[in-house]
Amino acid sequence: MENVLVVGAGFMGSGIAQVCARAGYMVHLMDVRREALEKAISGIHWSVEKLFTKGIIKESPRTIFERITLEEDLKGASDADWVIEAALEVEDLKHEIFQELDRLAPIETPLATNTSSIPITRIARSTKHPERVLGLHFFGPVPLMGLVEVVKGEGTSPEVFERGVVFVRSLGKTPVRVRRDIPCFVMNRIFSAAFREAVDLVAQGVVSPEDVDVGMRLGYGWNAGPFEIADNAGLDTWALIAKSMKALGEEDLVPRSDLVEGMVEEGRLGRKAGKGFYRYTPEGKRIPWGNLTITHKSTLLGDA
Ligand code: NAD
Repeated sequence: MENVLVVGAGFMGSGIAQVCARAGYMVHLMDVRREALEKAISGIHWSVEKLFTKGIIKESPRTIFERITLEEDLKGASDADWVIEAALEVEDLKHEIFQELDRLAPIETPLATNTSSIPITRIARSTKHPERVLGLHFFGPVPLMGLVEVVKGEGTSPEVFERGVVFVRSLGKTPVRVRRDIPCFVMNRIFSAAFREAVDLVAQGVVSPEDVDVGMRLGYGWNAGPFEIADNAGLDTWALIAKSMKALGEEDLVPRSDLVEGMVEEGRLGRKAGKGFYRYTPEGKRIPWGNLTITHKSTLLGDA
């Protein structure tokens, strides 16, 4: 049985650990915060039990849980067949993690990052073996979303790139090959352009978040609107991604308004905080704010 080390046990890392365990891999789930690991494992239990009750998972939940071990350091890299990094979207942090992973993991082990914006080539620079570094860009919530972008850095070997495609399929997901390494890859560039417009239109008082979401569902056939997607992803994560995009010279993909950053300052982090562009009941039901939607005074460029 193959081992997978997942680094970071937040929204994405916990989902990635769950789908790997479900696919039969032994999983080391690692985070520097004990409370993140505890929250991750209780979330995995809840999700697997629910999928089992619905008949979507046939294997006993217990067997799946037994494949996951929780860890607070990177030692699990030494016997890993795959490593997937899903820590915070902070480039310096990813460099530190990859330097350590490169030192600890066997030379044939591919090192994947789930970054949303940072080119793989930049992350690979902190390793001595860029040929084994690639992007595996999952979409959240990972247990429910079928897509993974497989991203080739300048130094990624063709063999590791193709192994990425095969690995993604082994998780029951559909791979999309991104053959050239550009910031934010493909799907996140397209989504970010839509989200930028949506945020700026809300910040200008043109439309409410819920009307944008209804519009994109009914007008364009999206399964979820941009604000529903952003609330699920976590607005703190979006703020980090926006900061990273600006640092990479991709300002065009970032809203001109500072609405999201202001909401993060107010603790409106999205679904996980019970409030974001929507409010959430303890059972997780999404409720629009109505006319009270946005309390933060956003500044639009040119308004000052
Ligand atoms: P998150 O904030 O939910 O989780 C990040 C986790 O990283 C936290 O639990 C934190 O304790 C942990 N961490 C911090 N430093 C660490 C270290 N040195 N070693 C190990 N763990 C560490 O964030 P997230 O939404 O899960 O995003 C994680 C990554 O996935 C980011 O790179 C993000 O851009 C990317 N991503 C996010 C989404 C999304 O929808 N949220 C989608 C695709 C990709």
